[in-house]
Order: sequence, then C-alpha cells, then structure tokens
Amino acid sequence: MIENYFGNYTPVCDCCEKRLPGELSFQEAVRAIRAAGWESRKVGDEREDVCTDCLFEEKGYAREFAYAANRR
Ligand SMILES: [Zn+2]
Repeated sequence: MIENYFGNYTPVCDCCEKRLPGELSFQEAVRAIRAAGWESRKVGDEREDVCTDCLFEEKGYAREFAYAANRR
C-alpha cells in the first residue's frame, strides 16, 4: 500500500510492512516501488504492494525478474 501522511507518500509492503523512503506524490511513490523491484497488484478494489523479500519467499524468483515483470 502507499500511505499518505501530510503529503508524504510512503510505500509499505503489505506482507511484512517494510517501507521505502517517502515520496512527494503518489506517482513518485509508484515509481519508487517499481524501481525497487516490488510488485503491485489489485486485490478487489484494494491495492497491494509486495517487497522483493516477500516476492522471493512467495515465488522463489529474484529481484531482476520481479523488476522485468513490472515494466510492461
Ligand atoms: Zn515484504
């Protein structure tokens, strides 16, 4: 998920609650998530962001592959 506190958008992993540094806009936060190799998904109407550590545990694939899968 992306938390928004007082105009600071912080990407947070929905599995382990690991955080990335806060960004100034939602778009920047989405970009930071992609750049870090995290995966974004939709679960119903909810957005879910998963960090590389959790992706690795879940699927057994590495950061580079996760990044490539997110580029589309
Ligand atoms: Zn995680």
